[in-house]
Amino acid sequence: MALRAVLSFGGSGNRNRFLLLQGARFYGTKRDAEYDLVVVGGGSGGLACAKEAANLGAKVAVLDYVIPTPLGTKWGLGGTCVNVGCIPKKLMHQAALLGEAVHDAKAYGWQLPEAENITHDWASLRESVQNHIKSVNWVTRVELRDKKVEYINGLGVFKDPYTIHTVTKKGERTLTSKYFLIATGGRPRYNDIPGAKEYGITSDDIFSLENSPGKTLVIGAGYIGLECAGFLRGLGFDATVMVRSVVLREFDRQMAEVIQESMVLRGVKFLFKCVPTAIEKQDDGKLLAKWKSDDGQEFSETYDTVLFAIGRRALTRELHTDRAGIELAGDGEKIDAVNEQTNVPHIFAVGDVLYKKPELTPVAIHAGKLLARRLFGGGTAQMDYQNVATTIFSPLEYGCVGLSEEAAVEKYGAESVEIYHAYYKPTEFFIPQKSIAHCYLKVVAMREGEQKVIGMHFIGPNAGEIIQGFGAAIKCDLTMEKLMGTVGIHPTVAEEFTRINITKRSGKDPNPASCCS
Ligand code: FAD
Ligand code: NDP
Repeated sequence: MALRAVLSFGGSGNRNRFLLLQGARFYGTKRDAEYDLVVVGGGSGGLACAKEAANLGAKVAVLDYVIPTPLGTKWGLGGTCVNVGCIPKKLMHQAALLGEAVHDAKAYGWQLPEAENITHDWASLRESVQNHIKSVNWVTRVELRDKKVEYINGLGVFKDPYTIHTVTKKGERTLTSKYFLIATGGRPRYNDIPGAKEYGITSDDIFSLENSPGKTLVIGAGYIGLECAGFLRGLGFDATVMVRSVVLREFDRQMAEVIQESMVLRGVKFLFKCVPTAIEKQDDGKLLAKWKSDDGQEFSETYDTVLFAIGRRALTRELHTDRAGIELAGDGEKIDAVNEQTNVPHIFAVGDVLYKKPELTPVAIHAGKLLARRLFGGGTAQMDYQNVATTIFSPLEYGCVGLSEEAAVEKYGAESVEIYHAYYKPTEFFIPQKSIAHCYLKVVAMREGEQKVIGMHFIGPNAGEIIQGFGAAIKCDLTMEKLMGTVGIHPTVAEEFTRINITKRSGKDPNPASCCS
């Protein structure tokens, strides 16, 4: 910590030098602070750190407050993942998969009404999802109480580097602490166009939308755009994705294109190289979306819902990080912490608020726990942000860990990298005769020696479940020799990784000959 302080000191302006000097003085009088740790943000990272710190005997308070969306949507304790992220998304993804399964079931002998008579009820799905979320909110509060973590339902605002101020229903509070953790996460951005906030929604609204979304235009083709369009189409809605450049820009290009094709097959429409220009409300209540393509052509169409999924902004402005002397990076919103420590030595940050770190729940949780152990348990382990596995529930899932083909070639050169690939046939796809065109996997390895595996990519059913284990294998220095020497479990789709043997360089056909070849 001292080293970090010196480094920051050297690179900072007068204002920060002053703050750091104050910080040094503060360390001398820390026993005066009311808490050992005050966490701002009761989401994945903040709660993980708070609970671990309390387990280790620290006196902890957590502030959590949700600023309502322009539509008025708000939610309870637990942050994005629980309320408007991973959990409701996974449940709606599951609802969409069940819709597919109902159709498959007939081929397996289930006597069901004709497909066109099977309908989906948005209101009952929304209610079930929201009930589950409320139960998680409740359990989270109980857990905090049991661990003696004080929960304060108020918006935290830095008064100075040592003091957080908040206003709750019960009145004003001023909290002093030995350490602070910023775990304020992010919120969706809207395009800066007429009508966006008045008439558009985001992922913050979709999971609790009173009326069924109907025909939906999703703007943005990242994780959220594809997942929302995927489950909406799966539930039977007309869904269109507006893509500014390419889908899933930062992912393996070939895998992203396969995902896009799989979504087209399921009926999702795409508008490529377009950006929105206005959203207008019509007399009949429908929304007229206007957009232009990159060659300047203008278009418009009516939708029931327009959902913005163009990325998220970190919640640092509302916290007044400037008053604490915290330097912001990049776009001036995120915190460029070193081992989760900001330039102000007693203030830390985890989760989505961090600059150039994966915006994923397990990343925030892991970093939060390790930080608590370092601060209060004598721990030394640092968070490793490399090789974090992730999955896009699109709804045919795409799971990956490590480098994409392009990133590996850029890093090591095409001659040093070997790409193994294969198409495969999930056994369960045969009876309903589902398309296997998008069941594809890829292993990115070093070409020489034992061929260290540096990236794994899988598109198909349950990709999230499959890639998790291979993420652990990569952490244990998986090589192609070990992968090919692993005996598979038959008949699963995960075994396809153990059967992979065709390199792209060989030019051989990566299509499977039979189920057991
Ligand atoms: P958050 O969970 O966002 O928590 C921050 C909390 O702080 C919020 O409750 C916020 O209201 C509160 N807050 C902010 N400012 C203040 C303040 N000044 N005072 C008091 N409280 C404040 N990740 C995955 O790993 N898998 C997924 O499948 C997945 N799906 C997602 C789907 C969607 C639609 C979205 C939006 C995200 C998804 N994510 C997923 C990402 C995941 O939700 C985030 O990475 C994770 O929640 C980040 O945790 P966090 O602790 O940084 O912040
Ligand atoms: P992403 O950064 O993944 O994608 C943003 C998309 O919006 C891109 O397609 C981008 O296009 C487009 N875009 C950005 N700005 C504009 C603009 N002004 N006009 C039009 N299009 C624009 O952000 P998301 O909001 O989808 O997700 C945020 C994060 O949440 C993810 O990075 C991920 O970490 C996390 N998440 C994780 C999930 C999971 O684990 N399954 C699921 C959902 C979210 P372009 O490529 O041209 O920049």
